Amino acid sequence: MENNGKRIVKSIKVDTKKCVGCRACEIACSAFHAVPRFSSVNTARSRIMVVIDEVKDVFVPIRAGDYAEAECNGRHAYVIDGKEYDECTFCPASCPSRDSFRDPDSGLPLKCDMCETVPPMEKPMCVDACTFGALTLEEREEEIRKEEAKQTDMEAGLKFLIKRYGLKKVMDTVVRVSEE
Ligand code: SF4
Ligand code: SF4
Ligand code: SF4
Repeated sequence: MENNGKRIVKSIKVDTKKCVGCRACEIACSAFHAVPRFSSVNTARSRIMVVIDEVKDVFVPIRAGDYAEAECNGRHAYVIDGKEYDECTFCPASCPSRDSFRDPDSGLPLKCDMCETVPPMEKPMCVDACTFGALTLEEREEEIRKEEAKQTDMEAGLKFLIKRYGLKKVMDTVVRVSEE
């Protein structure tokens, strides 16, 4: 939401200590984004993914973030409770190095849209579904930079998709999804 050069930025705070790995958030997200809405559940279409390693006692919900056109160079390892993990495990990007956050049919990147609806919902689906309190909606106000104001998020996303997949594939997907 934008107003007088400022916008409300929504985010979801994760408390990994409260996450039990039930994956209700993934189910809720995929049902919300099914076409028609709530017609099916396929967690491969979820914009949130829970990294679950029961042996290492790790449960980390990760939301789909920005697209990555290429694998990044700055790979680091994360150490949690003395156990080492590859950075890609916790990366929110849809990236050529892995299959996470891609639509299983089209291969197009998935991105968390904060479940934006008109009128807006009180809470995003994943937050509402998490009865363990691991996910909390947060809102903050921030200034819009001049260069950002020139280009909407949708324009930036479309430019990326056209550059990466070609106009025809993007248009075919838009037509298919709008007809479902
Ligand atoms: S619904 Fe909550 S507790 Fe369950 S996996 Fe998702 S974040 Fe973790
Ligand atoms: S998935 Fe791995 S290689 Fe790709 S952007 Fe993330 S950290 Fe970099
Ligand atoms: S905010 Fe909505 S789109 Fe984003 S991960 Fe949660 S349920 Fe999915």
